[in-house]
Amino acid sequence: MYGKIKEHLQNELQSIREAGLYKNERVIVSPQDAVIRLSSGQEVLNFCANNYLGLSNHPALIQAASDALQSHGYGMSSVRFICGTTDLHKILEQKIAEFFGTEDTILYAACFDANGGIFEPLFSEEDAIISDSLNHASIIDGVRLSKAKRFRYLNADMKDLEAQLILAKDSRFRIIVTDGVFSMDGNVAPLDQINQLAKKYDALIMVDECHSAGVVGNTGRGVTELFNIRGEIDIITGTLGKAFGGALGGFTTGRKEVIELLRQRSRPYLFSNSLPPAVVNAGIKMFEMMAETSELQDKLHRNTAYFITEMIAAGFDVKPSKSAICAVMLYEAKLSQDFAAQLLQEGIYVTGFYYPVVPQGQARIRVQLSAAHQPAHLEKALSAFKKVGKSLGIIK
Ligand SMILES: *Cc1c(COP(=O)(O)O)cnc(C)c1O
Repeated sequence: MYGKIKEHLQNELQSIREAGLYKNERVIVSPQDAVIRLSSGQEVLNFCANNYLGLSNHPALIQAASDALQSHGYGMSSVRFICGTTDLHKILEQKIAEFFGTEDTILYAACFDANGGIFEPLFSEEDAIISDSLNHASIIDGVRLSKAKRFRYLNADMKDLEAQLILAKDSRFRIIVTDGVFSMDGNVAPLDQINQLAKKYDALIMVDECHSAGVVGNTGRGVTELFNIRGEIDIITGTLGKAFGGALGGFTTGRKEVIELLRQRSRPYLFSNSLPPAVVNAGIKMFEMMAETSELQDKLHRNTAYFITEMIAAGFDVKPSKSAICAVMLYEAKLSQDFAAQLLQEGIYVTGFYYPVVPQGQARIRVQLSAAHQPAHLEKALSAFKKVGKSLGIIK
């Protein structure tokens, strides 16, 4: 009986609208790429996709997906352990382990599931999970599903992490959990220092590499390459939905006993469908491409360095970044929305973020660079930023 709750939900929606927090979805009618077409007919340059390596519409991945549709069909109609595992799933898991220099890998439908299914099977009341305050929502939810004691440290603050490790010293096992790159600022977790503290206080480390894998490190191997600690992180989670082709799929890769236990006990793995062969085969192709060359990383790193340097020179207040994320600080929520709207009129698609996605008074525009961006795209974006920045009085 759909009764009283209808009005309640309508009121709830109205209050979201009135608070200015209603999320409208823009409709794209072309493939995801540097240039996209919107349902309005407008063509815009896309600077807000996680398409860091420009692989979302890559011909080789489309071909690999199409090949697997022919050879392995459309869907698996099963979880992995009943009848949902193909030769392709096993190959992809191995490729991911090779890429990260880890022992084994388990696939999930998404990284949201990988993070949702990692803590509960491994940790219980006697254990401690020590989590960065800016970790992704899926980590927060995953931690909630376990019975372990929870500790939180200020974003990338090593003094606070150490204090929390001391508070957690009587636990049976301790694990430090962090995003590799924090998606709102683009800063990298100080994994070298985290690794030191983990050794000192006998703690495991888990890193979520969703925004760092494929992106940071000279060859895109992620934060363990950046800090030269390959093979030292116990658990890495990541997504195929960002730099790695942008379709979907998540994974946990790391110590072999951990992965083996997850196959036995991790609920999002045991009770959710297997990834479709087309997606898996495109993933295999993608990791083969990564193993051959780091051209795309080189281009992404050049694009990012150029864009950030030019934005700073133009007088914008940009957060220090070691990733492909450039946070342009505007501080006021309305300003961030006006700025993004005016940029769209100039043909540049970016998103303005404000509270509660970022702290109060910290509104910004997040620009995400891509290897798909050509020099002319960067020039157009920079001149649009300068034009709008001047018209709104942000720069001189
Ligand atoms: C995007 C993201 C996820 C979720 O990944 P999906 O595969 O899209 O579910 C998890 N963690 C972080 C840090 C992310 O940025």
